[in-house]
Amino acid sequence: MPEIHNKIAHRKKILTVFLCCGLALVGLFVRLVYLMIFEADYYAEKATQLHERERSIKAARGRILDRTGEVLADNRTVCTISVIHNQIQDPEAVIEMLCRELGLSEEYVRARVEKYSSMERVKSNVDKSVGDRIREYEIPGVKVDEDYKRYYPYGELASKVLGFTGGDNQGIIGLEVIYEKYLQGEPGKILTMTDARGIEVEAAGERRIEPVSGSDLYISLDRNIQTYATQLAYQAMETKQAQGVSILVMNPQNGEIYAMVNVPEFDLNDPYALPEGTGENLSQEEQQNLLNQIWRNGCINDTYEPGSTFKIITAAAGLEQGVITPQSQFSCPGFIMVEDRKIRCHKVGGHGGQDFIHCMMNSCNPALISVGLLLGVDTYYDYFSRFGLLTKTGVDLPGEAGTIMHNKENMGLVELATVSFGQSFQITPIQLVTTASSIINGGRRVTPHFGVKVVDAQGNMVESFSYPVTGNIVSEGTSATMREILEMVVKEGSGKNGKVEGYRVGGKTATSQTLPRGSGRYISSFIGFAPADNPQVIAVAIVNTPQGVYYGGQVAAPIIRQLFENILPYMGIEQTPPENES
Ligand SMILES: [Zn+2]
Repeated sequence: MPEIHNKIAHRKKILTVFLCCGLALVGLFVRLVYLMIFEADYYAEKATQLHERERSIKAARGRILDRTGEVLADNRTVCTISVIHNQIQDPEAVIEMLCRELGLSEEYVRARVEKYSSMERVKSNVDKSVGDRIREYEIPGVKVDEDYKRYYPYGELASKVLGFTGGDNQGIIGLEVIYEKYLQGEPGKILTMTDARGIEVEAAGERRIEPVSGSDLYISLDRNIQTYATQLAYQAMETKQAQGVSILVMNPQNGEIYAMVNVPEFDLNDPYALPEGTGENLSQEEQQNLLNQIWRNGCINDTYEPGSTFKIITAAAGLEQGVITPQSQFSCPGFIMVEDRKIRCHKVGGHGGQDFIHCMMNSCNPALISVGLLLGVDTYYDYFSRFGLLTKTGVDLPGEAGTIMHNKENMGLVELATVSFGQSFQITPIQLVTTASSIINGGRRVTPHFGVKVVDAQGNMVESFSYPVTGNIVSEGTSATMREILEMVVKEGSGKNGKVEGYRVGGKTATSQTLPRGSGRYISSFIGFAPADNPQVIAVAIVNTPQGVYYGGQVAAPIIRQLFENILPYMGIEQTPPENES
């Protein structure tokens, strides 16, 4: 019995082992099928990776061109020179040639040539002509790769608008950032076979995946207008010993920006250069802060108290709401009482009795405060909002600053009074120009912009940009009245230094104090447009902290006059016959 029992037990054991083996085999088979069918790609790729080395080829970045087709941001082909240790046959010849062509020390080159590595970079950013010459020697073990470097043919021109690129060719500031996805292109690859030690197998050759060039961006900026505006800005900065001067020139009908100047500008081909005499004692962080200041675009990144140019907005709201007409009479004794506050006119003795047109020509504070009070806080605030002043303009540049304004619930009559003549709140220059445009162009709020279209390297249209327009900001009637009033301001009023022989120009001056008030520091500005009856161009000049005379009419209006004298004929805007002038 025990024997039989044993036999059965033995058979059971064999069966168990057999079953286990069988199950294991099935398991392995299933796994094998799985790997072969479902993971095949993964392993195939892994196998190639083991033997293929990848070098990336930079794509040419798209260019930036102005409205006349002038290239403002371009690429220069540069070369990277490397050596491949195991392909070098005559190390001394390689060392001699590289020292001579690249102007490097023997010690430096020898260290790289003799280093046991698959590929060693000797020098990058080498002139293409030098790279071509080195390639022509056909010395084994020396490799010349082409590469691109961003290049700005006009150096400083529109530096804060265009922006520049970093080491990997990506945009750092300006349009280079905003239009990155169109400009960047797709890098290519050079795949080379390597053996187990990671050394290139020469016989296997190279496989190349060609890079795709970035597309070209066409912008509305006009190089000639930008150049001239920059000259005027530097001239004003120098003669007025000002801290900075900004000039913004736009088409008020469609928001195309022709020029955006913020002097001092900086060299786009050397954007990290610090002004002479600085940098030595600064920490890394302080240096970066200083650079950020240098790169700031005052027209959109900074807000300021607009002062009297903002009377345009108050006047338009008053006319549109019907609380005043151009003939409404006001009386200015040199001040106005608002609640318990006495707010003075800039003319101490007062402007006396005058109609509203003369109030604007004289830039009378009490009159404009009266208009604000006639509207009341709620209505004024509604116009402020309806004119788009509480939202950003949407300009296609990074870092646009928003308006700094009282909350409606905190706005009393005194706040209303100060806002009415442009004080106690802050806006950006681009906001002022955009809002003024909508008031003089028939009541359409346009989106200020640079981007017009994107065209690929083969010349095919990739995208043609369109921008939002909001209608009914003011009626055509109010708009026409405002154009007439602002033309009178330039013709016979406080803006007469903005007058241009042969053209009808409208505009408004401003002299505002920088905060804190009473520091004796001013901002002088002038906003002008032409032709006054059918505006094709609007421009603002803002002089920050001029020394000596600081009135906008004397400091900023002449800048726009000179600008218009030059650009109106250039833009092909016809002169008004003299008989129609008076
Ligand atoms: Zn007055």
